[in-house]
Amino acid sequence: MSSSAKEILNNWETRLMEWNKPISELGLKIEGSAIEKIRSRLYGELERKGIRFKPKFYLTDTWGCPDRVPVIGIPFYYANPVLSQIEDRMNGDLEDEHELMMTFRHEAGHAINYAYRLYALREWKETFGRFDEPYRDFFRPNPQSRQFVKHLYQQVGSYAGRIYAQKHPDEDFAETFAVWLTPRSNWRVKYRNWSALKKLKYVDRLMKEIGPKRPLVTNGGLVNPIGSLNLTLLEHYNKSEERYRQKAQGYVDDVLMEIFSTNGKGEKRIPAAGFIDKNRNHMVGMISHWTGEKSSSVNALMDKLRDRARELSLNLSPHRQSRKLIEFTALATALVMNYTYEGKFTIN
Ligand SMILES: [Zn+2]
Repeated sequence: MSSSAKEILNNWETRLMEWNKPISELGLKIEGSAIEKIRSRLYGELERKGIRFKPKFYLTDTWGCPDRVPVIGIPFYYANPVLSQIEDRMNGDLEDEHELMMTFRHEAGHAINYAYRLYALREWKETFGRFDEPYRDFFRPNPQSRQFVKHLYQQVGSYAGRIYAQKHPDEDFAETFAVWLTPRSNWRVKYRNWSALKKLKYVDRLMKEIGPKRPLVTNGGLVNPIGSLNLTLLEHYNKSEERYRQKAQGYVDDVLMEIFSTNGKGEKRIPAAGFIDKNRNHMVGMISHWTGEKSSSVNALMDKLRDRARELSLNLSPHRQSRKLIEFTALATALVMNYTYEGKFTIN
């Protein structure tokens, strides 16, 4: 047998279908997520370098600060491990913790640039160039150049490498800042024969000067904050629901909602999750006995049905318990038999 029942019930397409709601309604927050830890690390690094300003972060659909606003946008999927896995399956470019830390330092460079309006300083322009130079998505990097630090990895046309600093003066500053900020980056030694050293020395001097000062700008208009992201996950990825529904081999929300309801009114309702738990031992024994399927597989299905019933706040009337038990048992048996014969827990 290839995959276990538990794996099939939780394959990523199933999780995708279960999470396929408007992004603004997914309850995502930086607080309590893996991102929070990385943000604390960044704040610690800024603190140790004597920089008083700690940029704020917000969840959105792409990386970056809004134009001249020192608030860092993080893609929403980094706030939840299931969504991170989905992003990785969809686009395959999910950053690990080390890469995230590198990106945070880069974005912090933008934020500090905007918070202190460094881009308007004469020496900044002499060192990095004009801030209002047009932005290009395609440029011809020179991988041998020693005028630029090497930090973020970027693919441009057929060339891929750590050449992001060459994209624009604003990026050049952010990349130089990131290298300067990185603990033990040893930039004085590593870049000693590079002309990029003078940029690093300028950043070093500039940060000592402005670090203790109060920022000039701390806020501004945000671009696509998470509360405004009304597309569902599948709409966000521009994929059709049909295609993923077929691969969601443990997706049971639809059938559960045919049996239990979400909007019981009047009388006191019983939560469907508790109802499933109360009856499961006997049900697992019977279904396993009559189908011949291992009880571990039937148990895995019961876990899924119970968890989804809880997540969807499904309930039933206390007066219909025996009737609902028959309906639920028939459903669970059919799902188990489909798993036995077709390898998936879905009703066609
Ligand atoms: Zn950037």
